[in-house]
Amino acid sequence: MALLQIAEPGQSDAPHQRRLAVGIDLGTTNSLVAAVRSGSADVLPDSDGHRSVPSVVQYVQGETPRVGHAAEASSGDSRSTIRSAKRLMGKGAADLADSWLSKHYEFDTESGSLPAFVTHDGNKTSIDVSAAILHELKQTAEQTLGGELAGAVVTVPAYFDDAQRQATKDAASLAGLQVLRLLNEPTAAAVAYGLDNEEGGIVAIYDLGGGTFDISLLKMQQGIFEVLATAGNTALGGDDIDNALVQWLMDQAGIDSLADSQLESDTKRYARGLKEALSASASVSVEWGDRAGHEVRTELTRESFDELVMPLVAATLKPCRQVLRDADVERDQVTAVVMVGGSTRVPLVRDKVSEFFGRPVLTSIDPDEVVAIGAAIQADVLAGNKPDSDLLLLDVTPLSLGLEIMGGLVEKVIPRNTTIPIARGQEFTTYKDGQTAMALHVVQGERELVDDCRSLARFELNGIPSRVAGAARIQVLFQVDADGLLTVSALERESGVVASVDVKPSYGLSDGEIETMLRESMDHASEDMQKRALQEQKVEAARVLEAIEAALQSDGDEHLDAGERAAIGALISSLKQVVDSSTEREVIKQAVLALEQGSAEYVERRMNASVRQMMSGQGLDDIDSAVGKAKHEACASDS
Ligand code: ADP
Ligand code: MG
Repeated sequence: MALLQIAEPGQSDAPHQRRLAVGIDLGTTNSLVAAVRSGSADVLPDSDGHRSVPSVVQYVQGETPRVGHAAEASSGDSRSTIRSAKRLMGKGAADLADSWLSKHYEFDTESGSLPAFVTHDGNKTSIDVSAAILHELKQTAEQTLGGELAGAVVTVPAYFDDAQRQATKDAASLAGLQVLRLLNEPTAAAVAYGLDNEEGGIVAIYDLGGGTFDISLLKMQQGIFEVLATAGNTALGGDDIDNALVQWLMDQAGIDSLADSQLESDTKRYARGLKEALSASASVSVEWGDRAGHEVRTELTRESFDELVMPLVAATLKPCRQVLRDADVERDQVTAVVMVGGSTRVPLVRDKVSEFFGRPVLTSIDPDEVVAIGAAIQADVLAGNKPDSDLLLLDVTPLSLGLEIMGGLVEKVIPRNTTIPIARGQEFTTYKDGQTAMALHVVQGERELVDDCRSLARFELNGIPSRVAGAARIQVLFQVDADGLLTVSALERESGVVASVDVKPSYGLSDGEIETMLRESMDHASEDMQKRALQEQKVEAARVLEAIEAALQSDGDEHLDAGERAAIGALISSLKQVVDSSTEREVIKQAVLALEQGSAEYVERRMNASVRQMMSGQGLDDIDSAVGKAKHEACASDS
């Protein structure tokens, strides 16, 4: 008799049924959705055949928002037609000041925790706007694929921090999308070209979009993509070419300005058309005029166009040099250069980048689509459609994550460039006798002092059993999931009390802050080490003072005569004075030593007394802790 077969839990009994999963490139200018069908990845066009959706959302009172081409086509109020919302993802009101967005839109920074665009249909955050775009892409995908999506891989720039990644995930859940994984854009582009199969290579991803430029160096090793370095310019892209062409038209027409904003936007659209045509042909005929009778009728050759574009291309090469320097990589160690972004269609861009790296650049996959295609390949694997695939992509933490310890110092728990997902624990202890609560402050950054790092979250652990300083054992666990999101928990072992935070990181990091933070940490390395050593010495001094003073108060009179007590008092005052005034670590150290030596006799008498007490049946709880030393002392909470 045949045995009955039972499927493993979670496994489908219909093995050939594929789960529908897509890759989404949520761009600043354009967004795309792609999927693997019949074994190959391709972009999914919408019902009108468009392969990409402009990242534009128009809000009209009481109506569902118009997204993409529909938003571009209609002539609604430009203040309610939101572009480039990605620039605001995970940012706070402070980041709005003199940004491109603040010049074009009205914001409400008061009502909610996030700055919101004021539109005809109420306030909308960048998360709402991105959700509308994602929703549109989801619908396109479900119509084309004929079923409900199991999930999506959504791409983000490599330099996106926790807050920006979390905002992207929030947008996806608002759109009803299950995020299988957030994937770095350059990593997705490398996957599209199958570069993840090459052992040990260093890949440069050059991404020139509509308004942003990013260059990333990735290293492929044993199935892991490591981001070696990223650089770029958040205000450089195809828009600048369009503006240069508009200026050229004005020069040709002999005018200084364009009459109104309608003419401005029409001219810009016309210029973009010229630019895109010149990527395919050697010259275009120009016919442009305004209502006042100014006009331009001429041929624009690619040669003249190249002259206009040259400064922009040159500006992108600076960050290219920078990433090589940051990663300590020579140009000839780069084994592949991938072109990403619509603006890399411009032949001059390809030529100059190829010249710079001294090798041909990869352009066989449409540079507009390559990120979405890589994301689709990854989504297919994550959805379980390719069980034997070894395509396991891992990213790294861009900055170190740590905890504030006494003295305003940072104890790094997960160093930067650690492969994620990761969980790492570290033990901390109390600073004061009888301390029953601990204030935990989670920070991000490379510097030694908390003030120089970025604050991510604060939380408290309460209910720690009252013990002498340094006796409690608090296990703090940092976990970063595959999307780079952090959870920190603290557990007091004896009582089992726990507390935790999901780091919904405080939104608000200004542009390029990661790069700046890294640079600063290098610039300040030796100065930071000195500051750290000084702070540690001060903490040690405070701990000794705390212990001696507590002891004196409880039994000073019992064990010391007036003269002895005065002598210790003098040592205490002079230690306090050097802690306040000295910046010399050694001076403080000597004063601590003097106090320890000067009170050694007293400490011994106390010890003997407590031993006698113990012998006579008393508790041991009160044995002096002034000599006990704990490695890490988290802050005492006053609450
Ligand atoms: P993003 O990643 O910022 O969303 P894209 O990668 O979609 O941007 O790039 C958009 C930019 O590419 C626009 O400035 C657009 O004009 C430009 N672009 C698109 N096609 C061409 C082309 N054929 N030649 C030159 N530029 C192009
Ligand atoms: Mg892009």
